[in-house]
Amino acid sequence: MLTEAQFKTSLYCPELYRLDGNILEVSASQNIIYESIKEVYLLFLKNNLFDFNKDLIKIIKTNIANYHPSLSTIDDIQYLVSWAINIINCYFKIFPITIYTPLATNFSPTVSTEFISLKLELDLILVEDANPSKIHTVNFYPMVTKHIKENDFLISIKIQCLKEIYSHISSNIPVKIHYLSVPSATFRNKSQKNYSFSHVSSGKVKKQHKVNFLNAQKKYLESCDSLHTIPYCPNTNCTKRKECTYG
Ligand code: SF4
Repeated sequence: MLTEAQFKTSLYCPELYRLDGNILEVSASQNIIYESIKEVYLLFLKNNLFDFNKDLIKIIKTNIANYHPSLSTIDDIQYLVSWAINIINCYFKIFPITIYTPLATNFSPTVSTEFISLKLELDLILVEDANPSKIHTVNFYPMVTKHIKENDFLISIKIQCLKEIYSHISSNIPVKIHYLSVPSATFRNKSQKNYSFSHVSSGKVKKQHKVNFLNAQKKYLESCDSLHTIPYCPNTNCTKRKECTYG
């Protein structure tokens, strides 16, 4: 079984995939934001969200200890807590919890084709309180640009998959995919207060995405069978550069 991150990594660079790299890897500070948002929803799903602000601060502090254990100064920790609170409040302005209620976190449905079995990775599934109800899925990424909307062919595959899964709610339930990212904390401009998510969304199933998905599966299979050779890799930021033959 192939995960979405593995599939995308192998299409980007088969060598990176072989070295167990991940092009969807997020930074420590992004992890604090993304995991904290998911944990707030988990408390909500378990009916354990009693005091939003208090519970949020507790979650953020635990995640700072988990993802940024090397932070030593009180000043840095306080900065990261207030940075995270500000950004997470921005998130809940986009998806107010009174309108968008959670159905699931870390949802991973499988799509099987004649070539591969692919585990899709969906950080959140929300249902919008509207008439008719609408399903939203939120995917947290290291970086989001408009380019994703046109080129990530898995958008259409995810929409189709969720329409089938939630067809019991309505036979043609609207589904919208959202990709969100925040820049990592820099610890440099600590007085900055204006933060925002980069956000793209789509609710359309495109024929071209389906064609591209088929071509990508063939490319993936080809790359498994042949040795990856390139003369020189210009990606100086690659996390596996030191281990890579081409770096
Ligand atoms: S250095 Fe370049 S070729 Fe090597 S794994 Fe990274 S992206 Fe791939």
